[in-house]
Amino acid sequence: MERVTGVNIVPHFCRIEDKPLDFYNDFNIIALGLDSVEARSYINAVACSFLEYDENDNPKEETIKPMVDGGTEGFKGHARVIIPGKTPCFECTIWLFPPQVKFPLCTLAETPRTAAHCIEYAHLIKWDEVHGGKAFDPDDPDQMQWVYKEAVKRAELFGIPGVTYSLTQGVVKNIIPAIASTNAIISAACALETLKIVSGCSKTLSNYLTYNGVEGLHTKVTEFVKDKDCLVCGPGVLIELDTSCTLQKFIEQLEEHPKLHLSKASVTHEGKNLYMQAPPVLEEMTRSNLLLSLFELMGKVPSGTVHATGTSTKNDKKTSGSRKLRVAFKGVNGMTDMDTAGGA
Ligand SMILES: [Zn+2]
Repeated sequence: MERVTGVNIVPHFCRIEDKPLDFYNDFNIIALGLDSVEARSYINAVACSFLEYDENDNPKEETIKPMVDGGTEGFKGHARVIIPGKTPCFECTIWLFPPQVKFPLCTLAETPRTAAHCIEYAHLIKWDEVHGGKAFDPDDPDQMQWVYKEAVKRAELFGIPGVTYSLTQGVVKNIIPAIASTNAIISAACALETLKIVSGCSKTLSNYLTYNGVEGLHTKVTEFVKDKDCLVCGPGVLIELDTSCTLQKFIEQLEEHPKLHLSKASVTHEGKNLYMQAPPVLEEMTRSNLLLSLFELMGKVPSGTVHATGTSTKNDKKTSGSRKLRVAFKGVNGMTDMDTAGGA
């Protein structure tokens, strides 16, 4: 703000999940500087939740919220432009993130050769032996300290140098050191793409830039394609309901739905809160809706889009998830072709 006249920056210090959806809807573009797959997944789902499709399944321009995402890992980095509904969203290409590398347990237990092996031994084996069943919390400094001390003992036993507290944090939390030049290059690419979207001065990159500075320098742009069945940026999962189905029953269905697995969902329709799990004051205000039929709550239309936000469980990992759902009511006039075909 000191450097550029007219710039206004408002910082917020909180978890990204703590902001209501309206907060994100107020922005024209979302530029991400996030540090995890989970955080990217969350914001991606939020931005895609604003997206609406017309009757021909084309995205409505005014509902598109472009995102620019950057990330670095040591000497490598990426910058990408996501135009929800047009280019692949984060979830469409989630396979780009390989599973995390794990050391074989036998190496950790029998033949440690590196400081990282000693740390993982303390973290994965010794912790369980001593604390039997208590989950390790990487954000608890006392617990991290415990793992560090055990790793030092292990390293001394095998004559391995290099175990430090910060390395322990790095290995356990899977942190890779940040390289300032990589960050500068990637953030510059992100700023440039954001400028292009705001001003229309040029076409954006299409749609995924990778940068590798490990040996020499290599950059490449790959044009990934949308996953047409994507649950996050697609037109939404179709759910057919009886007109008598209550909001409560609907929320229960989301939990059991094989494609969704969304538990404790809050539900909105056209920006209106139908039921909110939190905060308590909103929960109380919307609780009476649970016993009403969703058909009535949606204004007795044959079909419509609702948004459900809750906890989704994937591979035993719980994440906040926002899903777009196309609700169609059985036996109501004015059904779309697809719905009537299903009924016939
Ligand atoms: Zn997608």
